Amino acid sequence: MYDVETIRADFPILSREVNGKPLVYLDNGASAQKPRVVIDAMTHAYEKEYANVHRGLHYLSNLATDKYEAVRGIVARFLNAPDPEEIVFTTGTTEGINLVSYAWAAPRMQAGDEIVLSVLEHHANIVPWHFLRERQGVVLKWVEPESDGALDPQKVIDAIGPKTKLVAVTQMSNVTGTLVDVATICRGAKEKGVPVLVDGSQGSVHRPVSIPEIGCDFYAITGHKLYGPSGSGAIWIAKERMKEMRPFLGGGDMIRDVYRDTVTYNDPPMKFEAGTPGIVQQIGMGVALEYLMGLGMENIAAHEAELAAYATQRFKGLNWLNIQGSAPGKGAIFSMTLEGAAHAHDISTVLDKKGVAVRAGTHCAMPLLDFFGVTATCRASFGLYNTKAEVDKLIEALELCHELFA
Ligand code: PLP
Repeated sequence: MYDVETIRADFPILSREVNGKPLVYLDNGASAQKPRVVIDAMTHAYEKEYANVHRGLHYLSNLATDKYEAVRGIVARFLNAPDPEEIVFTTGTTEGINLVSYAWAAPRMQAGDEIVLSVLEHHANIVPWHFLRERQGVVLKWVEPESDGALDPQKVIDAIGPKTKLVAVTQMSNVTGTLVDVATICRGAKEKGVPVLVDGSQGSVHRPVSIPEIGCDFYAITGHKLYGPSGSGAIWIAKERMKEMRPFLGGGDMIRDVYRDTVTYNDPPMKFEAGTPGIVQQIGMGVALEYLMGLGMENIAAHEAELAAYATQRFKGLNWLNIQGSAPGKGAIFSMTLEGAAHAHDISTVLDKKGVAVRAGTHCAMPLLDFFGVTATCRASFGLYNTKAEVDKLIEALELCHELFA
């Protein structure tokens, strides 16, 4: 039984007020709040179990190493990935995708080679590929969504040509909540012999993920959206792809031996993890993932689907509100503009006065906003602890905006 009030009590910040009003936190797409277990585990790690990992032979270093390394197994379980050795720790999705761009894609792409992308992508899954366009003449091939923001997987597959070396696609848009059928894309790409990178930043937060069912080659997640700390994250990389990758950052931990004239590298995944990592951050992410698995990702998905359906039905009554993207089965992320002159920043400021936290701007997805013909939207993104009463509060605050700006 999914008891949202009990769950809310796990998140200390949710009981605070903002601008004299109870906080209605609807900016989960940007970063989610942290449950007490994560906060406590991080405090405990610093108070009782902290030292640098991998290098020491002393008690605390071994303890910290065990706790930190155990998170690889937790991430693997969370993603239903077969082998923890295929999990590379990162600071988040942005680093994970940059790792793939630099370490896997750059050395195997020539001028004229193509990367297939969708217009739904976050800048984190665009800019690392622009680097390859700028530096080595790689061509970015864009696949447009439908007018409702849905992405037809067949269109992505059809865009794969003889020069395509990679498909990079999100599992869920952070602007519209569109869910992408990445498994079908991966099947089609595999038939054409092309690897697929899936940006799981949003997708992994809202429903169960199973790497074998998706069939991708790279799957990136970011801890702070998964109710864990910022600066934590991971990317799952298929073994065959890992073998093809050169190192990314150079430094301690990623090497085996360093001499004056040669260097040999550590085995993957540590080959891709240079320097002192976010030790406590990753430990915190592990606790957050355990927390999510404890609630059950299917239960979270069902709760959020109910919220999305309720919000969609309530938004329908507001003929001055435009929602960007209405693809069937979309997640509980709503980007909106108001008829009239109100800018998204003005709307979010009024909402904030009512205690409702949303995000305004381009959401790091300028090509998608361009597709919808808008320069900024106001985004309400729901999480596992939000309620229908909070949908009502959002709508009350939007009605006030309409009165003020119409
Ligand atoms: N991809 C998507 C779809 C996102 O929503 C985000 C964050 O908003 C990212 C990538 C980048 O994640 P991070 O900033 O944690 O690296």
